[in-house]
Amino acid sequence: MKKITSIKARITIWYTTLMFILIAFVLILVGTVSYKQAIDNVEKDVVLRVSIISEKTGKGPMGMFHTVNSNRDFKNVSIYDTDGEYIAGQYMYDVANIEFKEGKPRRETVDGKEYVVYDIKKVAPPGMHGGFWIRGFESVNSTVILGRSAYTSILIIVPIVLLLTALGGFYITRKAFMPINNIVHTANSICEQNDLKQRIDISPDAKKDELNNLSVTLNNMLDKIENLVLQEKQFTSDASHELRTPISVILAQGEYLLDIADTVKEKELAQTIVDKANQISKLVSHLLLMARIDGNRQKLKYENVDVCLIADIATENVKGMADAKNIDVSVDITENTFVYADEILLMSVLENLICNGIKYGVEGGNVAVTANTEGGFVNITVKDDGVGIPKEHIDKIWGRFYRLDNVRNDEYGSNGLGLSMVKSIVELHGGKVSVESVINKGSVFTVRLPLFNKNN
Ligand code: ADP
Repeated sequence: MKKITSIKARITIWYTTLMFILIAFVLILVGTVSYKQAIDNVEKDVVLRVSIISEKTGKGPMGMFHTVNSNRDFKNVSIYDTDGEYIAGQYMYDVANIEFKEGKPRRETVDGKEYVVYDIKKVAPPGMHGGFWIRGFESVNSTVILGRSAYTSILIIVPIVLLLTALGGFYITRKAFMPINNIVHTANSICEQNDLKQRIDISPDAKKDELNNLSVTLNNMLDKIENLVLQEKQFTSDASHELRTPISVILAQGEYLLDIADTVKEKELAQTIVDKANQISKLVSHLLLMARIDGNRQKLKYENVDVCLIADIATENVKGMADAKNIDVSVDITENTFVYADEILLMSVLENLICNGIKYGVEGGNVAVTANTEGGFVNITVKDDGVGIPKEHIDKIWGRFYRLDNVRNDEYGSNGLGLSMVKSIVELHGGKVSVESVINKGSVFTVRLPLFNKNN
């Protein structure tokens, strides 16, 4: 059976069931008391009628039965001889077959029907032997006792009361839980759109209850988080700016040193300075780019970009790395595959992905770049036959500074920023990037870009 998870439904079911139990309890109590009362009345009535007839037939001759026969007092009263043969009064087959017994009024059941029966034995009037029985009776069918109208009202009223309880309960809980829907909606929207500016919608005339307090508190918390994130971004942006000039100076001085170095050792040292300065310079430009994208300050220079051409250039840029590992990088894209995008940024996307294919590829392996258009999109794939990515890391690799293997790729100046930058650039173009990977078989990264962007 499906488990009911909605609190609204659970509260409604709980109160409706409680109401049902309460109504049932009250009905049973009232029913039992009034049934007993009714039976007492019936018994009194039967005894009274039998007594009246008994008095009337007390001393008269046998023929007087027929005189009283027409009397309305004979209603539900009949007279039998001592052999049980019907003599006079109201005859009822079921009742006539019940054994005669003197004593108090009693309840007898015949063919599932219940009767109150009261017998008294009288001495024989003149001309009759042995005496006779006077029997009073009344059906005690519960419907008759309580009355049809009472039953009908119960059958109508109970479902209506239960329905009103269920609807009322559901309406009240739904209204009370409305702020939770808003909270869930806002939280989902913030996650989906990565937009920390959104706040939970709080109506000005909302009741100041616990859920309202929760919404206000969450909004305050979102204010704080947004401020912290903004401060952190601002810091990254400022720090990167500040680092740019000294790094350029170190790079220039290092290159100069490399030029004037005489000995091999001096050249080695100068080269290390240049390499490391280049690494820091790359890192700083990545950070600056991302700070600009985060702050919506990165302007895109849209143009018709030849995907095949930029894939070729990106491949050429990383040729040294590929050759060092004897990896074959192939580009198989039909000519005239164009996409409207920022050429420089798109090229850095491809360069990063191809570069990763080489870094995490195996000696003598392959990296293949392909593209196809489908609907209003172009799908560019970069496929390698390298180490692959474990399932549990797939979602995390897009995070800033996230790296699986810090040591092994130090030689490439890896910093864990490449894929997060790829993602930011692709999303800035209104596209999506995804990956499929199998350990020790390889990975396929797919960049899906709209052929034409709504911002164009
Ligand atoms: P890094 O500078 O470390 O390469 P990235 O952001 O480019 O940073 O990648 C993040 C992590 O994702 C890498 O450390 C690596 O473990 C994994 N990764 C990226 N591309 C590939 C690939 N083609 N094959 C296997 N692992 C990859």
